[in-house]
Amino acid sequence: MGRVVFTGVTKRFGDVTAVDDLDLEVLDEEFLVLLGPSGCGKSTALRMIAGLEDPTEGVITIGDRVVNDIEPRDRDIAMVFQSYALYPHMTVRKNIEFPLRTLDRAERATRVNDVANVLGLENLLDRKPAQLSGGQRQRVALARAIVRRPAAFLMDEPLSNLDAKLRVQTRAELVELQQRLLTTTVYVTHDQVEAMTMGHRIAILEAGVLQQVGPPQEVYDRPANLFVARFIGSPPMNTVRGEVARHDGALVVQLPGGPVEVPAPIAHALEQSGVTSVVIGVRSEHLSFGGAASIPATVTVVESLGHERHVICRLVDGQMVIVRVAAGEPVPSVGESVQLGSDAEHLHVFDAQSTARVEP
Ligand code: ATP
Repeated sequence: MGRVVFTGVTKRFGDVTAVDDLDLEVLDEEFLVLLGPSGCGKSTALRMIAGLEDPTEGVITIGDRVVNDIEPRDRDIAMVFQSYALYPHMTVRKNIEFPLRTLDRAERATRVNDVANVLGLENLLDRKPAQLSGGQRQRVALARAIVRRPAAFLMDEPLSNLDAKLRVQTRAELVELQQRLLTTTVYVTHDQVEAMTMGHRIAILEAGVLQQVGPPQEVYDRPANLFVARFIGSPPMNTVRGEVARHDGALVVQLPGGPVEVPAPIAHALEQSGVTSVVIGVRSEHLSFGGAASIPATVTVVESLGHERHVICRLVDGQMVIVRVAAGEPVPSVGESVQLGSDAEHLHVFDAQSTARVEP
């Protein structure tokens, strides 16, 4: 059982609260990504599972054991960092075998061969780390973690030293490996693309506080607050401040340039809650030129990315909004005046004050 649970876990370093009252359950066999910007506390959370930091408050369990007072080496976890820390004077075989010192020789050989097979390292076992590429070294570091067959893998930005192409490839290999081994994995990254593509679920942290936990698509489709809305997705979600108003008797949101209607259930929720200032969010793929509920803007830049184009527009008050257009679709020219529209169902509404999503 590789379930990992944080209950009311806080970690303070002097005046800094690195992790603030964290409640989080990582399910057995799950690949959970801890995501957030630099300094949000994700490494500290991971290091507390490993036993490299002690919680100031709260309880951490691995499997069914409370591990607060258990030594790192007795926690049955394996950690992979961005720096591979292989022993340079040892062969790949010896490096992988290193954690198995207590097992007999035959068992060691079987385990190393199994793991080498899984990671495609069979032909490299007699080489020294200096004779390997960065990607191969990272695979050896992974092999050394896997060979112990721990209850959980803890990974701290393990791909960040690889170049972009290798990172994409290794990302897929790691996912495949986890699917095969089904070892509970907690993976730390600041890269939302890694989080979206790798995690069964993503837990987003900001300033030590958990913002949302959920499957990637759910977090993308229904961000719990403005921070998550802006952190997940590239380009980031367009967000524009607006005021709740009445227009011909109906509740609308007044944006720079004109009013927009929000879906009836959200209008109802706004009315009930008495929220008057909101932020309207809309993803760039959900914006189009024209349509019924639309607001004026001017095209300032058109960026071509090959498979799509980003049309960057300014609203009447100067705020920037990005519209994503598939390659081959027509785009307006720079300097052109346009109307930006979106289906009401694709509008996200956030309370400007609390930043929380307004839900029906
Ligand atoms: P990064 O992606 O930059 O590694 P992170 O999200 O992993 O960031 P942490 O390393 O967990 O963030 O740090 C969280 C906060 O705790 C930061 O403000 C950091 O400066 C502080 N912190 C971390 N370790 C220590 C320490 N040993 N002593 C004092 N402060 C620390």
